[in-house]
Amino acid sequence: MQVLKTLEELQEVRRSITGTIGFVPTMGALHNGHISLIKQARNENDIVIVSIFVNPTQFLPGEDLDKYPRKDEADKKICQMCKVDYVFMPEISTMYENEEVLVKAPNKSYVLEGKTRPGHFDGVLQVVLKLFNLTQPTNAYFGKKDAQQLSLIQQMVKNFFLPINIVPCDIVRESDGLAMSSRNVYLDNQQRKDALLISKSLYFAASLIGKQEFSCEAIKQKMLETMSILDVEYVAIVDREFNEIQTIQKGNTIILVVARLGQTRLLDNIWL
Ligand code: AMP
Repeated sequence: MQVLKTLEELQEVRRSITGTIGFVPTMGALHNGHISLIKQARNENDIVIVSIFVNPTQFLPGEDLDKYPRKDEADKKICQMCKVDYVFMPEISTMYENEEVLVKAPNKSYVLEGKTRPGHFDGVLQVVLKLFNLTQPTNAYFGKKDAQQLSLIQQMVKNFFLPINIVPCDIVRESDGLAMSSRNVYLDNQQRKDALLISKSLYFAASLIGKQEFSCEAIKQKMLETMSILDVEYVAIVDREFNEIQTIQKGNTIILVVARLGQTRLLDNIWL
C-alpha cells in the first residue's frame, strides 16, 4: 500500500493504472462502516483508492471541524489490512486555493440536512468532484447512512456527465443497533445509551408499517413519542428523491432521524 500526499503523486499513479478503480472517499477515523465500503470496493475492482481528508468547506462556522477525530496512523493500518492499494491524504492547501470556482447543490437540497446546514452540501460536492477528477474511478462507494449526500452525488454525476458508477452501501451498525459514525466517540455513557432510541424508533416505524400503518404523520408522531427524552432535530419521511410524502410507498421510502445528544449531532435512517 502506498500513501500519497500530493496531487503530482496521485496523478502519476493514476496515469499508470489500466484496470478498474474502486474509490472510497472518507474523512478518516475509520470504523466498520467505512471498512464495509472498502471491502466492497476491494471485491469489485482491480485497484482500490481510499481518500482521507477532513474537508473544511463542508463544515459550517461553529461546527466540529477543529475537534473532528483524526486517527491517521490507525487509519493507514486499517487500509493496509483491507488491502487498499493507495491512500490519498492531502493537506488542505493541496485541495483548495483561496478563491475558487464553486459547485452549488440544487435548491431542492435545502431541506433536511441542507436546511439546518446551509452550504454543507456545496462543500461536499466541491470536494467530491475534485476527488473524482483526481482519481477518475470506475466505481465510487458511498454509505446510505448519509442518504441525502448519496442522492446529491448521484445527481452531480448525472448533471456533469461523469463516467462514474456510484455504489450505494448499506448502513453498518453496532450490535445494539446504533449506526456507526466517527462522531460516536463524542458520546458519554448516558448519551451512548440514549442514542439507541434513534435506531429503535426507526425499527419501530418499520414494524408499524409491517402492521399496515401507512400514514406518515401517524408514524412520525409515534416515533417522536419513543424519542421523547431526546433533542430531535427532525424526523422526516421522504421518497427516494427526497420529496416529503404523506403515505408510505413501499420500496420508495426513506425515514430519517437527526437528534442531538449534547453537542453531538447523530443521523440515521432506514430504507423501506
Ligand atoms: P465520512 O468519513 O463520515 O465522511 O464517511 C465516509 C463514507 O462512509 C460516506 O459515504 C458515509 O456515508 C459512509 N459511512 C459512514 N458511516 C457509515 C455506516 N455506519 N455504514 C455505512 N456507511 C457509512
